[in-house]
Amino acid sequence: MNVTDRAYALELDRNDPLAHFKSQFVVTDPQMCYLDGNSLGRIPKATISAVNDFMSEWGAEVVTGWSHWVDEAQPTGDLLGVAALGAAAGQVLVCDTTSVNFYQLCLAAVHARPGRKTIITDAANFPTDRYILDGIAKQFGLKLVLIQNEDSVVATHERITTEVLAPYLNDDVALVTLQVIQYRSGARTDIKSITDQVRAIGGLVVWDASHAVGAIELNLDANGVDLCVGCTYKYGNSGPGSPAWLYVSKKIQKELQVPIQGWFAQDAQFEMGPVFERAQNIRGFQIASPSLIGIRCVQTAFSMIKEAGIDAIATKAAVGTQMMIDLFDAWLAPLGFVLNTSRDAKERGGHISLVHPDAAQICVALREISNVIPDYRTPKSIRLAISPLATSFVEVWDGFARMRDLVATGQYKTIKEGGSRVT
Ligand SMILES: *Cc1c(COP(=O)(O)O)cnc(C)c1O
Repeated sequence: MNVTDRAYALELDRNDPLAHFKSQFVVTDPQMCYLDGNSLGRIPKATISAVNDFMSEWGAEVVTGWSHWVDEAQPTGDLLGVAALGAAAGQVLVCDTTSVNFYQLCLAAVHARPGRKTIITDAANFPTDRYILDGIAKQFGLKLVLIQNEDSVVATHERITTEVLAPYLNDDVALVTLQVIQYRSGARTDIKSITDQVRAIGGLVVWDASHAVGAIELNLDANGVDLCVGCTYKYGNSGPGSPAWLYVSKKIQKELQVPIQGWFAQDAQFEMGPVFERAQNIRGFQIASPSLIGIRCVQTAFSMIKEAGIDAIATKAAVGTQMMIDLFDAWLAPLGFVLNTSRDAKERGGHISLVHPDAAQICVALREISNVIPDYRTPKSIRLAISPLATSFVEVWDGFARMRDLVATGQYKTIKEGGSRVT
């Protein structure tokens, strides 16, 4: 069967061991092709009852609830760790935002390498990461070095390998920090080889797995990762602004001190003593009271990921993105699109990136005319994702067919760009 036959996608759905999960999500418009699960996942139906149940719990238990709520960041972290990170218990917390956790771990890493003055990241890194590093560098008189892996139109050089990184490394490097999957191009970096390479020169790596968690296997323990952060609202399906997570390997928990010394990190927290004495386990990395409503959303969504199995999820992401690339070759390349993501499944995750001179306008038109939801990233990139639990293959196929029609007819040119501050 040919990929350009709709029956091809229907056959993939029939053989998909994860197909039944889609009906566990809220889908209000069955005609919509939602291909933006890499930015915000759909809501699981079970989340609605979990939040409502928590409201009753709060009502009934009021302050006494804290006796069991107080430590929920840790078992929720353990659940997320086993479901999606390949992390043994006691190394993950669900707390705060990715930005806050990133600041905390980067600064802890820098302070753990006194005397070293260089931080390395890449120009294609996610904005919040680059801005936070710039702030850290200014505050502490450090040198921030950017690997120049951006191109003005097609960011084909975004993938960081040990060969790319090698010329930047020396014994002044305290910290290297990279995304596991580049937010724009979808390029996946090999976390083990880079972690080993930086360790060999005495530096630490902080990984940002926001665009990877819930889409691919991370195997943080087996890959010897020390530090990692990520969000829960993309492939994690835990809701807009849901609490993020941080991973600190047991190997280095005693060695690191995060800059915000909150009371939840205090060893004997409720003695309320005059001196800060950090808990020597993962709680030593927690700042403050957990956001219980958000945490219940994380528990629900990551229980589904655990049940599905991250291996099966990663396989579906690979097959789905392969179908997208095959459809791109058949339909979209002739219309002026350029593929900006690797053809090797091991070098990408759950989304691909297509470049077109009119990408911004096409993106708006897809939403307004075609009932297809992708997103736009400057410059000239359209991102298209399969979120393995919440998206069917035929939903992706239909989205691509509508995109072909929209661009082939030139109909998208009737739409004005913009209207929203968010793209
Ligand atoms: C989505 C994303 C973030 C989001 O940060 P917030 O603090 O949740 O706003 C951070 N880093 C990367 C790499 C991301 O993809």
